[in-house]
Amino acid sequence: MTRLLLVEDELALARAMAVGLRDVGYVVDEAHDGEEALAGARSGLYDAIVLDLRLPGVSGLEVLRALRERGDRIPVLVVTACDTTQEVVAGLDAGADDYVTKPFAFAELLARLRALLRRSAASNPGAEGRLRTGDLELDPTQLRAWRDGRELGLSNLEYRLLEHLVRHAGRVQSRDRLAAALWETDATPESNALEVHVSSLRRKLDRGTATRMIHTRRGVGYLLEVAE
Ligand code: CA
Repeated sequence: MTRLLLVEDELALARAMAVGLRDVGYVVDEAHDGEEALAGARSGLYDAIVLDLRLPGVSGLEVLRALRERGDRIPVLVVTACDTTQEVVAGLDAGADDYVTKPFAFAELLARLRALLRRSAASNPGAEGRLRTGDLELDPTQLRAWRDGRELGLSNLEYRLLEHLVRHAGRVQSRDRLAAALWETDATPESNALEVHVSSLRRKLDRGTATRMIHTRRGVGYLLEVAE
């Protein structure tokens, strides 16, 4: 089952596209503005997003940048307005995987979507979108994680922290970057909240094993190293 988030503010077009996509077997949820799109994407429920760039309020480009900024690599097909090379370039620069230009033939949208989902499946060989690295396994749809087959029993926040570190394994993640991935911009966590969650995640991750996975780079941030 492939689940799509369709982001389009023109309601009639959104309806028509949703009907067409369901006809060929996708499960489709609609979002009609940028805020809804971000909330939907954050749920981790979707396999791909079809994203109109011209939205009221938070624009499609801003949605896309926010997703990529927090390390979310969900495949995104952007829908751009006619004859705007600039918009296409901006979309691709912001991290879109492909685009169609309005007005588009529905068959073309379907073909591009299929190609994008195929590429995404090829780069994530784990079944049902699970992430695997070393002896770690993460299930982004259920927010659960295992090390060497043992479930870690993480809180949602610990899970998000771990997933972010896994997706950026081997690269130091600054404290600011991690905080941005974990908390809404208007939330104000305690100043030591990140340390508290990292230390709790570490405890669960390293229980019963001798190898530490999360390393501290003093004054900079954290990184996850996986022994293959
Ligand atoms: Ca629009």
